[in-house]
Amino acid sequence: MVDNQFIEIYGEYLRDESRQVGTAESITFAKSEEDIINAIKENASKKNQITTQGARTGLAASAVPFGGHILNLSRMNKVVGARYDEKKDRFFLRVQPGILLTEIRKYLLNKSFLTEGWCEESLNALNHMKKGEWFYSTDPTEASASIGGMVACNASGAKSFRYGSTRDHIESLRIVLADGDVLSIKRGQVFAEYGKFELTTEKGRKITGELPSYIMPKVKKNTSGYHNEPNMDMIDLFIGSDGTLGVISEIEIELSKQQSAAWGLTIFMPDEDSALDLVRALRGEKIFDNMEPLKLNPSAIEFFSHNALCMLREQQRTNPAFASIQEIKESYHTGIYTEIEADSNEEIWEGIKNLGSVIERLGGDEDATWVANNHTSLEKLHAFRHACPECVNMQIDNIKKTYPSITKLGTDMSVPDEKLKQVMKMYNEELAENNLYAVIFGHVGNNHLHVNTIPRNMDEYHRAKELYSKWAEKIAAMGGAVSAEHGVGKLKVPFLQKMFSEEELNEMRDLKVVFDPEQLFNRGTIFPYVECKEAI
Ligand SMILES: Cc1cc2nc3c(=O)[nH]c(=O)nc-3n(C[C@H](O)[C@H](O)[C@H](O)COP(=O)(O)OP(=O)(O)OC[C@H]3O[C@@H](n4cnc5c(N)ncnc54)[C@H](O)[C@@H]3O)c2cc1C
Repeated sequence: MVDNQFIEIYGEYLRDESRQVGTAESITFAKSEEDIINAIKENASKKNQITTQGARTGLAASAVPFGGHILNLSRMNKVVGARYDEKKDRFFLRVQPGILLTEIRKYLLNKSFLTEGWCEESLNALNHMKKGEWFYSTDPTEASASIGGMVACNASGAKSFRYGSTRDHIESLRIVLADGDVLSIKRGQVFAEYGKFELTTEKGRKITGELPSYIMPKVKKNTSGYHNEPNMDMIDLFIGSDGTLGVISEIEIELSKQQSAAWGLTIFMPDEDSALDLVRALRGEKIFDNMEPLKLNPSAIEFFSHNALCMLREQQRTNPAFASIQEIKESYHTGIYTEIEADSNEEIWEGIKNLGSVIERLGGDEDATWVANNHTSLEKLHAFRHACPECVNMQIDNIKKTYPSITKLGTDMSVPDEKLKQVMKMYNEELAENNLYAVIFGHVGNNHLHVNTIPRNMDEYHRAKELYSKWAEKIAAMGGAVSAEHGVGKLKVPFLQKMFSEEELNEMRDLKVVFDPEQLFNRGTIFPYVECKEAI
């Protein structure tokens, strides 16, 4: 039974950025681990399913509830401690799961932590930190994501090309399990052995189980189902598990050292093929026989398709909110954004001095480049990148006025390096064959692009969905991943079935049941349950 009063008060918590809408009967806004434990115990005793929420910026509907209880963690948003390992010069922050990436960045930039309740070790650690010296490197384009959501989805972003995904920066986790017991797990302490594992909870309960038999795809970014390696560090099972195994109540993140110089270059190429060759060159590949490979070690390599540039140009012309975007000339066909960090401007200059000739040899014009070499101009290029998904969302919201059941249609698939051109060809040819309009942008350095179809009517919407399903199958056959960074959530459950056999999916579910015997956490996420209700 839908409770209209609940919808009126808490309606916004029934949806996320995927623009899907769910249902729920109750909600808790936890402020502490104890609140999480109490909410889980109470709901588990009634066999109520529980959907955990961070900041609801997810794009796969994993935080959209399918009935039951919502456990919202947005009020658990504090930094609770710090640790400095002097010998290894490593810095760690202990944070509550609901803290937003923007908040972590602000604290680090100004070194202005709210230290009330911190232990002495944490306060001492701060003495080793200079303002702006450390940063948290995982950077999903949507910086209003919470750290708990990022861990649950193993989020990544532009800088993952150099710094890796969330997984690479998580040192320890506290996870509240389905019986309210807590699992505290540190990196490097508990490993699986030949596919078998044993974990001990804080109350001393032993949890034993077997890992699935599937082999993960050899791609740089993957969040398609549970992380699985026969002798893996068991902390990795929980990272990217989409909130299906337990509720993360505390996270220790590792910071990275900020280098003193950073440049961003948006390079506009005359066609897509030359842009993809430029990507290979930026990655350090030798694309001409007689060339010295570039030694840039970029932190990011991003892509803007021709349609993406046209969409941004149009928005710049007609929408005051995008008026500050730089002029995108008509001659700019495809854009590649790269960011390079080093200890000095001279070092960066030394790295990029051969880039101009590579651009020219590929048929481009090195003057068709925007260069940013200070904080303000870099922020401008980041805003340009963020404008892409924002414009897509606006267009989807627009079309929804006529066709309310249309939802966002963005892919999140990645392939191995050598399949980049093949996958782009597939996208372009099959979109054209189906007469579908799409903008493509994203993390091309990791062969991970978001194809966003903008349907003009219901027929196009259904055809695009069908096409995505075919792509999932083809990408799995290429050795790729059907979800690279957004998680499987509810929307990509059918795609996961293209990547794994029924037996492998059953093994995955068996693993969930070890931690969540009644399958109360995030029902419908990763594993099928009922059809997600479409947006209203
Ligand atoms: C414009 C835009 C751009 C984006 N760009 C990127 C990008 O570049 N890279 C990228 O990776 N993502 C991107 N995203 C997707 C999104 O920001 C990430 O998936 C993010 O990690 C979600 O965090 P959240 O706090 O909003 O989580 P939510 O949406 O609230 O939840 C996501 C999942 O995490 C689970 N969860 C949340 N907190 C916890 C917890 N404490 N314990 C257990 N489970 C939990 C939820 O149950 C759910 O399964 C983008 C989104 C938008 C709207």
